[in-house]
Amino acid sequence: MKFVGAHVSIAGGVFNAPLNAKDIGAKAFALFTKNQRQWKAKPLTEEIIKRFKENMEKVEISPKYILPHDSYLINLGHPEKEKRRKSIEAFVDEVNRCYQLGLNYLNFHPGSHLGKVSEKECLRIIADSINEILDRTKKVILVLENTAGQGNNVGYRFEHLAEIIDLVKDKSRIGVCLDTCHMFAAGYDIRTKEAYEKTMKEFEDIVGFKYLKGMHLNDAKSQLGSRVDRHHSIGKGYIGLDAFKFIMNDKRLDNIPLILETPNKLIWPEEIKLLYSLIEDQKTGKLKI
Ligand SMILES: [Zn+2]
Ligand SMILES: [Zn+2]
Repeated sequence: MKFVGAHVSIAGGVFNAPLNAKDIGAKAFALFTKNQRQWKAKPLTEEIIKRFKENMEKVEISPKYILPHDSYLINLGHPEKEKRRKSIEAFVDEVNRCYQLGLNYLNFHPGSHLGKVSEKECLRIIADSINEILDRTKKVILVLENTAGQGNNVGYRFEHLAEIIDLVKDKSRIGVCLDTCHMFAAGYDIRTKEAYEKTMKEFEDIVGFKYLKGMHLNDAKSQLGSRVDRHHSIGKGYIGLDAFKFIMNDKRLDNIPLILETPNKLIWPEEIKLLYSLIEDQKTGKLKI
C-alpha cells in the first residue's frame, strides 16, 4: 500500500500536525518538532506529548508513516569543531524530542563542507557526528536525505549516502530518504520508464532499498543536473507526471511515508488524490483516473 502525505504545519503546537494531515486526506506526514529557524526550543511538556499521541491515534496514522525533519540550521558536517558541536547538541535534542513523541525517525540533510574541506572529509565528519549522536540517544532511526548538490552540500550522489552508512557503526539506526526533486537536480533522470529503472537500480546497487525509510515527492523547477533545489507542484515541473506514476506503481516503495514538499499547500489535497489516481488497477492494468 502507498502512504502519501505532506510536510504539515505545527502552528499552535506540535500536536496539531496529525490533525493538519487528516484535513488534507494524508495517510502519512512530515513535521518539524520545533521552530526550524531557531537553535533552541522549549522542552516538550507531558501535556504536549499526551496531546500529540492522542491526536495520532485519533487520525490513525502510525509512527511508521511519520517522517520528522530536523532544523535547517544544523550542519553535522561543519568543518569547524565549535560550530559542529552546536549542531550535534541541537540534533541530539531533536532526536530526544522525536523519541518523546513516540516517533521512529528523524530526517536530515547530511551536511555542507562550506568549501573548507573535501567532500570525502566532510562525509567522514558527518559519520563521526552520527556515531556520537547514536551513542547518546535511543531508538530513533536517523534518515539521511539525498540532496540536490546545491552550493557546498554533500549527499547528492548515492555514493555519498553509501559512504556515510558504511562508516556508521549501528546500521540498525541509519536510513535514507529519497527526494525526487533533489535526485533530478543532482542528475538522476526518472522521466521515462527506462531512466526510472536505471536510477532505481543504481540506488539498489549502491545504497539498497533496505535502507529506504521514506521519500519526498516533489516536481522540479530546476533542470536535470542543474544542482539547484527548487521544488514544484506534482506534474508541473521538469520531472513531469510520468515519474510519479512509476513511483506510485513501484512495489519497492510500499509501506513507507511518501511526503509532498511542494510549494502550493492549498492544492495538497488534490495532489494527494492525483497521486493515488496514478495507481494502476491490479485487475485491468488500466489507470484509475
Ligand atoms: Zn526533501
Ligand atoms: Zn529541497
